[in-house]
Amino acid sequence: GGKAVNEVAARTYIEEVYQTVLQRNSNQYEFQQAVKEIVESLVPVFAKNPHYMKAGILERLVEPERLVSFRVPWVDDQGNVRVNRGFRVQFNSAIGPYKGGLRFHPSVNESIIKFLGFEQIFKNSLTGLPIGGGKGGSDFDPKGKSDGEVMRFTQSFMTELCKYIGQDTDVPAGDIGVGAREIGYMFGQYKRIRGGFEAGVLTGKGVVYGGSLARPEATGYGTVYFVHEMLQAKGLSFEGSTVVVSGSGNVAIYAMQKAQQFGAKVVACSDSGGYIYDPNGINVETVRQLKEVERKRISEYTLLHPGSFYHEGCDKIWTIPCDIALPCATQNEIDITSAKTLIANGVKAIGEGANMPTTLDAIDSFLQAGVLFGPAKAANAGGVAVSALEMSQNSMRQSWTFEEVDEKLHQIMKNIYQASIQAAAEYDHADNLVVGANIAGFKKVADAMIAQGI
Ligand code: GLU
Repeated sequence: GGKAVNEVAARTYIEEVYQTVLQRNSNQYEFQQAVKEIVESLVPVFAKNPHYMKAGILERLVEPERLVSFRVPWVDDQGNVRVNRGFRVQFNSAIGPYKGGLRFHPSVNESIIKFLGFEQIFKNSLTGLPIGGGKGGSDFDPKGKSDGEVMRFTQSFMTELCKYIGQDTDVPAGDIGVGAREIGYMFGQYKRIRGGFEAGVLTGKGVVYGGSLARPEATGYGTVYFVHEMLQAKGLSFEGSTVVVSGSGNVAIYAMQKAQQFGAKVVACSDSGGYIYDPNGINVETVRQLKEVERKRISEYTLLHPGSFYHEGCDKIWTIPCDIALPCATQNEIDITSAKTLIANGVKAIGEGANMPTTLDAIDSFLQAGVLFGPAKAANAGGVAVSALEMSQNSMRQSWTFEEVDEKLHQIMKNIYQASIQAAAEYDHADNLVVGANIAGFKKVADAMIAQGI
């Protein structure tokens, strides 16, 4: 019947667009992976809404509205001039100003920034708040750099970036390698150049100059709130469960803290060098002190907590048996081998705190094994959601209490879960949150694009 005809047309259309993406973005594997994950979910949506094809929605979505790449020169402590590469992708502004973090990490290139910016479109739409999709960063490596070097690099980065951003056009925030310190230096530089206090131009600011309470906690807390919804729907809970969290940055730290508050035992976390295992439960305050304050390696944890162990090689963390795994480190950290080990060890739920931490074949194996799977663009949307709440507070020139922000965050995560599970059911993929989140995030953006014309 008509339904089958439309489905064939939708598949053909999507395949054509995907082939164009492969041609136009050859060698950009992370970006190709992010596009593939989305478009595979959208077949039933295009089949039910053929006018999206006529409007060329997918061709338009996969092409950023703008991508800027720039030179970032700075002077190191020895007086040598160094040069890094800076990027900002302004991917989609259909539902609000571009919004998304900045990543400082040696792996950063066009592909990484575009995959992150593309994901951000759908994640930001899912929050229900008026924010478009963007992302940026640099291949600068903050590891081992002095505070002065970080400041000089960051100021130089903003000297160029400031031409493209603004509180109603594009609002950056943090990501890997960019935290409160870097946001502070960037805000200072922006203010110096513009000669005005535009609080809403960056989020993740310090509380004393316009930041929101609960923004540091938001991504990690949000991931746990989301997984809590997934578990509850199946009669499960964090209470008494064993949890493994990869990473030891801002997302991992507050995911561990909230999981513990929900009664879980968190036994492991990691950094790029390796992982720590503590059978007594990870002391989150030690991790925070070591990583955020002293900027040391996670291996130092074992000196402070007898009975804990350090293992070199961070991907081995997934060999630890657990009920719930929260990948909060980086992209593609759970591959098919790690997924099979987790499944064999009886994992019940995965919540993606990082962006795209699970490879496509690993996601498939979790879904086939009946493991509950919370995809990044839904499960880690709490960070950018509270960034949008920071923008609201800046516009009002007011600030909310920690409890007010946390309560709004919790409600937003519940809403994202509901929107995703409902979209999955409506499009014949009951319980599949990957498909559900993609469809729910996509539809709002597509309808806004159509309303605004070509
Ligand atoms: N970098 C975070 C993310 O991946 C937060 C972005 C923001 O707050 O704008 O969503």
